[in-house]
Amino acid sequence: MTTTDPLPAVDGTDTRTLLYRTADHAADFLEGLDERPVQPHGTHETLYAALGGELPAEGEPADQVIDELVAGTADGLLDSTGGAFFGWVIGGVLPAALAADWLTSTWDQNTASYAHAPAQSVVEQVTGEWLIDLLGLPTGSSFAAVTGSQMGHVTALAAARNGLLHRAGWDVAARGLAGAPAIQVICSADRHASIDRALRLLGFGTDAVHPIATGTSGQIDLNALRRALMATTGAPTILCLQAGDLHTGAFDPFAAAIDLARERDDVWVHVDGAFGLWAAASPRHRELTAGIERADSWVTDAHKMLNTPFDCGFAIVADTAAHRSATAMQASYMPPAAGAERDAMDWTPEWSRRSRATPVYAALRSLGRNGVAALIDADCDNAAALVTGIGALDGAEAVAVPVFNQGLIRFHDPARGERAGSDHDDSDHGVIDHGGRGLVDRDPADSDLSDLADDAFTDRVIARIQRDGQAWFGPATWRGMHVMRVSVCDWRTTPAHVERAIEAVAAAIAAELALA
Ligand SMILES: *Cc1c(COP(=O)(O)O)cnc(C)c1O
Repeated sequence: MTTTDPLPAVDGTDTRTLLYRTADHAADFLEGLDERPVQPHGTHETLYAALGGELPAEGEPADQVIDELVAGTADGLLDSTGGAFFGWVIGGVLPAALAADWLTSTWDQNTASYAHAPAQSVVEQVTGEWLIDLLGLPTGSSFAAVTGSQMGHVTALAAARNGLLHRAGWDVAARGLAGAPAIQVICSADRHASIDRALRLLGFGTDAVHPIATGTSGQIDLNALRRALMATTGAPTILCLQAGDLHTGAFDPFAAAIDLARERDDVWVHVDGAFGLWAAASPRHRELTAGIERADSWVTDAHKMLNTPFDCGFAIVADTAAHRSATAMQASYMPPAAGAERDAMDWTPEWSRRSRATPVYAALRSLGRNGVAALIDADCDNAAALVTGIGALDGAEAVAVPVFNQGLIRFHDPARGERAGSDHDDSDHGVIDHGGRGLVDRDPADSDLSDLADDAFTDRVIARIQRDGQAWFGPATWRGMHVMRVSVCDWRTTPAHVERAIEAVAAAIAAELALA
């Protein structure tokens, strides 16, 4: 191929060579996970310089493009797929899922419909059935394989909207929301922000939200729920419950909450189970989700606890007619599925799409039922060891010990109030953030100086751990306090990673104290 060819000349050998070369790059990346700092050193400036520049007029050979892509990104890849990453709730990638993901792109099937992608449509159908079974949800529920829980909420809450308004005698598909009975939404004050965005996208508006208080555990308060159900009586209502709070991992009391909701016949119960729904797949943790199968819709991610690559979430809906009425598609040039065939586009907000269920299928088969349970249990055990181990260090305190795979740590400045007093100025500490999320146990206005000193110390220790690169944790504000979030969500995390991370935290505390 010369650089003046308008299109690269590709033959089978070139492609095979390119793919092998790419596989070597991939394996090199994975083998380096425990050797490199978790946090990359690249800055926006260096990355932009390495990857930017003018788009070349003439094409470059594919192997050169790949080699330079690898070189140009090397300094900007956060090793969140490695065993020492404990930030957010990110998840790693199982080998079978990664390999299946490559094939998904290779086959390049448009999994919009059965006619476009017969084999991939069946893979998706089987995957959805397996998931519904594995998570203990009602057989025969419909599902959508979407990009993640964010779009899962959009899909499931659109089904909720159509289902509730249909029951109220309003055809929302034809008439829209203007003039419709106003749907009310009861949500935990600690809900994930993706629920609010789904409500905005769907036209409910966030004013429809009735936030309910959570206790120190992060679970909704049942009396507050009772009052909210009373306050919304007469209006079609969505109750959002949470399997796995993003800070504490707390699970709402599903059985009792759903009993209360069922005292009315116009309440749709939706569950955000982005990572926590997977507790249902573990005999050791299943109790956390007791009663959850009586909800109306659920979302979860495969790209978190199940460790598939990103772009893998699911919305599952018990009322298949409501789901279908929100998302079904028709076009003259799309032959509809016949018999048991399934057209994915009837259940998702998307048209053309990759076969994102394929890596999920591979992950589930490579683990089996027992392997899924073992993966979840190992994440939970490692999270408990990590939070307990860090909490036992001088200068650290476990604020939330994991009930599942999440926990919180706070660091204490030994000089506390005196130091904050010496340069005290409230505006220095204006970072305390209610996050608009309602209840906090500590009002920043009432914070004493030692609280503020601990906030600042916590931030500094976290920043140092990130810089040191032996492990990675992220900051958050919980109940008005700056904390460090701990999340274990990766098959690669071993007890050795846990030990190394505890040592890294101890070293960061010591280094910050030495500076003080
Ligand atoms: C991650 C997460 C979401 C959003 O899911 P995406 O896959 O990022 O779209 C929603 N809720 C909870 C509790 C989460 O952890």
